[in-house]
Amino acid sequence: MSLNLFNELSGVLDKSQVFEPHASSPYLHDSTESRGMKGKADLIVLPGTLEEVQKVVAYAYDHDLPMTLRGGGTGYAGGAVPEGGLVICLEKMNKVCSVDPLQWRLQVEAGVSTRRVQTVCRENGLLYPPDPGAAEQSQIGGNLATNAGGPHTFKYGSTGKWVTGVEAVTGWGEKVSFGGGFRKDVAGLDLGSLLVGSEGTLGVITRVHLRAMPALEKRYPVVGWYKSLREGCEALDYVRASGIQPAVLEYLDEGCIKWTQLSGAMEGSQFMLLTEADGTGEEAWAGRGILIEAVSEGALRVDAPLEEVAIADLWRWREGVGLGLAARWGGKSSEDIVVPLDRVEEAIRRIPEIGLKYGLEACSFGHAGDGNLHATFLLDFNDPDALASSQEAAEELFAMAIEMEGSVSGEHGIGKVKNGQLQHQWNPASVRLAQEVKKTFDPKGLFNPGKKLA
Ligand SMILES: Cc1cc2nc3c(=O)[nH]c(=O)nc-3n(C[C@H](O)[C@H](O)[C@H](O)COP(=O)(O)OP(=O)(O)OC[C@H]3O[C@@H](n4cnc5c(N)ncnc54)[C@H](O)[C@@H]3O)c2cc1C
Repeated sequence: MSLNLFNELSGVLDKSQVFEPHASSPYLHDSTESRGMKGKADLIVLPGTLEEVQKVVAYAYDHDLPMTLRGGGTGYAGGAVPEGGLVICLEKMNKVCSVDPLQWRLQVEAGVSTRRVQTVCRENGLLYPPDPGAAEQSQIGGNLATNAGGPHTFKYGSTGKWVTGVEAVTGWGEKVSFGGGFRKDVAGLDLGSLLVGSEGTLGVITRVHLRAMPALEKRYPVVGWYKSLREGCEALDYVRASGIQPAVLEYLDEGCIKWTQLSGAMEGSQFMLLTEADGTGEEAWAGRGILIEAVSEGALRVDAPLEEVAIADLWRWREGVGLGLAARWGGKSSEDIVVPLDRVEEAIRRIPEIGLKYGLEACSFGHAGDGNLHATFLLDFNDPDALASSQEAAEELFAMAIEMEGSVSGEHGIGKVKNGQLQHQWNPASVRLAQEVKKTFDPKGLFNPGKKLA
């Protein structure tokens, strides 16, 4: 880093908001660190206001400096891993600007954590349904930029569904803003939705208008354990045919059940289904009965806890699956492919076969109702051969998703990890159009260069 750059940028912002990263700085990696991914940057910049973001972007544009945009750094695609230039981190833009319980809406700066959005809503009698797994650390700007989902996406949709307006800073430091605190808007082109899932390639998201809904009275989970994948997938069909919309429809395959060794799992079962009925007390109770009936078809055992503590334990257990799998060999690489619902069973069967071909234990879990499968290869990250094999296995996995007319990513995005995969999934004209859109937002190609659309 040149001293000049530091001096000039500390003239644009306060000196305390600009610093040079040390070798082990957390700003140089995200959750792909466990795959050995680490970046480099000249300076870390922490703007605290829209105007400061504009100044930094304008400076970067004038000096041709690449910018890596960073929220909470929990991403699994390497999107926040820099390759030189500036890291613009939104952590200081963390104000909840307004909450209107009667209008079911709130307005927040991009650096507010997902958990805070959920909590503020709850405190105001509202529910903000998106529930990505790293809510304490992830920020709403990062959620928007990855269109993050979670188990309840099955009923309530991903982050983008809850956004009614977005403000951002694009090339040359220009502020743009689409939508707002109102619920319908067809006045212009839907440009705000281009920022949803943009992974920091179009500009810096600075402020978001979110909608919420009245808090639910009750949630009842229902869990089925099956002796084989076949029985488990039949139960999935029974749930879908049951006539109600469950809030979640999650699964664990045989490998997950076996290797996580989490207490409470049914020994000898090869498939687990987790579903949930929600709504008013009456609706949720009626839904619970219907789901128990559907899940019971062919099940070895059905668990339907009623106590709040037991329900919380069940969700904690579900959240521990990723860690439990990583503990087996010290690491894992977990992808997030999507397949059409009628190919879910075939995909779940083929994932361990792909792993086997590359000498890796592999399993899957995730959002069966959305066909969004966390295909997971278990490995020791200190073993370079295993790491290389997991990359080859992932390539084959993505090819499978495309062959099945699905997607290479349903949650984590493309980032750096899957760069180039979009070109396999989309035809050249579609990719070109996306690249032209990028050029319009970012004429010099300085926002997250080399990622997603490169
Ligand atoms: C334990 C764990 C569980 C997870 N579970 C889920 C899950 O259930 N569902 C899911 O979808 N994901 C999940 N993730 C992945 C991750 O949490 C989400 O992708 C999250 O939305 C990333 O938010 P972040 O603020 O950490 O973003 P970062 O990791 O900082 O960045 C992610 C991407 O967004 C861009 N970005 C960040 N902030 C901005 C901004 N203000 N403006 C423009 N671009 C920006 C970055 O450049 C990068 O490309 C999980 C991760 C972990 C570690």
